[in-house]
Amino acid sequence: MALIVQKFGGTSVGNAERIRDVAEHVGRTREAGNDVVVVVSAMGKFTDDLIRMADEVSPTRPPRELDMLLTAGERISMALVCMALSARGVESASFTGSQAGIITDTDHTRAKILEIRPDRIREAIDAGLVPVVAGFQGVSTEKDITTLGRGGSDVTAVALAAALKADVCEIYTDVKGVYSADPRVVPKARQLAVVSFDEMMEMAATGSRVLMLRSVEFARRHGVPLHVRSSFTWEPGTWIVEEDPTMEQAVVLAITDDASEAKITVGGVPDRPGVAAQLFRELADRGINVDMIVQNTGTNGLTDISFTVAMTDLDVAREACDEVKVEIGAAMVTTDDNIGRVSVVGAGMKSSPGVTALMFETLFENGINIEMISTSSIRISCVLRADRVADAVRHLHTAFGLDAASS
Ligand code: ASP
Ligand code: MG
Repeated sequence: MALIVQKFGGTSVGNAERIRDVAEHVGRTREAGNDVVVVVSAMGKFTDDLIRMADEVSPTRPPRELDMLLTAGERISMALVCMALSARGVESASFTGSQAGIITDTDHTRAKILEIRPDRIREAIDAGLVPVVAGFQGVSTEKDITTLGRGGSDVTAVALAAALKADVCEIYTDVKGVYSADPRVVPKARQLAVVSFDEMMEMAATGSRVLMLRSVEFARRHGVPLHVRSSFTWEPGTWIVEEDPTMEQAVVLAITDDASEAKITVGGVPDRPGVAAQLFRELADRGINVDMIVQNTGTNGLTDISFTVAMTDLDVAREACDEVKVEIGAAMVTTDDNIGRVSVVGAGMKSSPGVTALMFETLFENGINIEMISTSSIRISCVLRADRVADAVRHLHTAFGLDAASS
């Protein structure tokens, strides 16, 4: 008998029929002899609707109240799923994040889980119930209701699976699993059977939207196997597991794309020690994550520093740069939100030379200019003009032999 955490995303509980399907699936999983803990997202686009309502009454959206508002979405789902389970003859009980013992820090709208005290969930399982937990939420050390950031139900599911030592955390969604590229961009993308935690982290960080990055980090840290699968077909999907050294690794497993970043260039910067430190300290103090960084070789004692930040941080980052510009006597600050990033990811590239060369050749042959480059041991990313990204992904998918045979 296994303990399975099943997380259902917004589309999986999008209407009454879908909720009844979920109840049916949970019932069958139980009848196969497993214990099940369910984690739900808000129905469909309900969270977006709530944010819109908040915008209509307040330009500032006080974070504590926004969190209280947004957690309502998951509460609706959990109660309806429990009612559907009851109709299916499965005994269940719903729990808010707070009732489930999810303790977070006080950083409203993007709180981090500090600790899980799943006593009530364990008691419910022991009593033969299916606990249904509202995802995306917890209670802070100050006893206020918090949310974990958009897409945070994945984190709830993985964290609960870790705390309960579940055998697997199943993430049900509206796609069949993780693909070798976004199928909307690359019709020949293939569904992947197995992806390592490291590869999935790189993919989630560079544009794959199937799983929230933090949930993958959490799963890796606690060794929770993930199974991403469809609640429309109920077919097996993609497993995300610890890398098995005996397995043969794909040199390149997937191509990702990301249009969520913008580029900032600070030009005419004095080329002396301490300048970069000052600039990036200023950004860090404003809570801004910097991604790619390029510094050009100096001429006449001056240099340019370019870097990328999340589009949503662009205004704040620009302010910080304008301040530092004055302090260090830089010539100018420019921003560019017309960029996109394409990345190739694969654990096998560690031991396989030539991946970078093939990537650059492929872009060159298709007349695509590279503006910035960054690498990790299992990823290479290039920043391009936004309107060339889709083309780049398709050509790279072909060049690295990832295209599906038919379709
Ligand atoms: N409902 C929340 C959101 O839309 C959390 C989630 O779906 O995981 O971001
Ligand atoms: Mg979601």
